[in-house]
Amino acid sequence: MAWYPGAEKLELQPESDEQPAIVPTQVIFHSIAAPWAPRRIYEYWRDSTNLESHFGVGYDGSVGQFIGTETRADANMAANRRADGTGAVSIESASDDQSTDPWTDAQVAALIALGVWLHRQHGIPARVCRTADDPGFGFHRLFPEWSDGGTACPGDARVRQFHTVVLPGIVAGGGGAPLPPPRSDSGPARNRVTINGLEYGYGAHGPQVREVGEALVAAGHGSHYTAGPDEDWRDADTLNYQDYQRSLGYSGSDADGVPGVDSLRRLLGRLPSPRRVSLAHIVTAARTDPGAEQGHQTYGGEVRIVEQALADEGYLEQRWVDGSLGSRSVQAYADFQRSLGYAGSDANGIPGQRSLRELGARRGFDVTD
Ligand SMILES: [Zn+2]
Repeated sequence: MAWYPGAEKLELQPESDEQPAIVPTQVIFHSIAAPWAPRRIYEYWRDSTNLESHFGVGYDGSVGQFIGTETRADANMAANRRADGTGAVSIESASDDQSTDPWTDAQVAALIALGVWLHRQHGIPARVCRTADDPGFGFHRLFPEWSDGGTACPGDARVRQFHTVVLPGIVAGGGGAPLPPPRSDSGPARNRVTINGLEYGYGAHGPQVREVGEALVAAGHGSHYTAGPDEDWRDADTLNYQDYQRSLGYSGSDADGVPGVDSLRRLLGRLPSPRRVSLAHIVTAARTDPGAEQGHQTYGGEVRIVEQALADEGYLEQRWVDGSLGSRSVQAYADFQRSLGYAGSDANGIPGQRSLRELGARRGFDVTD
């Protein structure tokens, strides 16, 4: 469970120990219809109702935290915890008794700082939730599923501030503002990053995750695996990646186990891309398509990526970008090979690993064997 370093910890029991875990994917802002400081909000949850929030923010910008962000709190109905284990982090804030006043400047600043931390800590995207279960930021009345029969919370003035000041502030803050260092007792970093269109870090999924894991093992940094590596990024991947980062001389937040562009490129020799082309497939197409009937396609989707790159580099007319690696496309590839200095049979239009990787590096696709 995670506790915000900028909050006074006012742990609510028995809820904090007894309520189930969540993976926080949303943040929902509220007004509490009372001019209360965080401690008074805590007392209200403790003594009067079971609809507690994770956080409370007073008029002076002071923040209290009542429940860890990876434990369910009950302020948001269906968003508290869904069947897949995801849920919303809820933030109450002091307001007038009709929830009609705007947040004070101090509240706005506190909400932005807290939102940035939640974005970094849990990878919650800095955007407005598009549906009731879409990851992102929202306010209580945004979706009917988030309340019991509808609500005006947090009030018109604060809905305007959410759109014009608070969320833009979180977006800007997530772009590089200094943040409190992660708590030493919070375990491996749990944030995700997107590099060249693919996700890395806790919760990321896909062949790129397996590739990183296998490269870490090959580089001697696989000691935290008890199973895997596989296509799901878990804490063991983060810890192994952190060992690798430290071997590069990184320290502090640069060695948090979450990939960056430079360390990833050094590990893999390139940056994987969601646009992947198999060299073996392209070679097969180059040997098959020219002699087959007009327009014959072998691995047409991958061929189209290569053809488009040849067109973008000026070696192929756009109208021949058709997924069939016919004789014009092979000729264009031969021209590209000659531009790299190849001659004779090395410039026969049949792709090799070096030339195809060079084309991919220029035009943003990834080459596998
Ligand atoms: Zn509310």
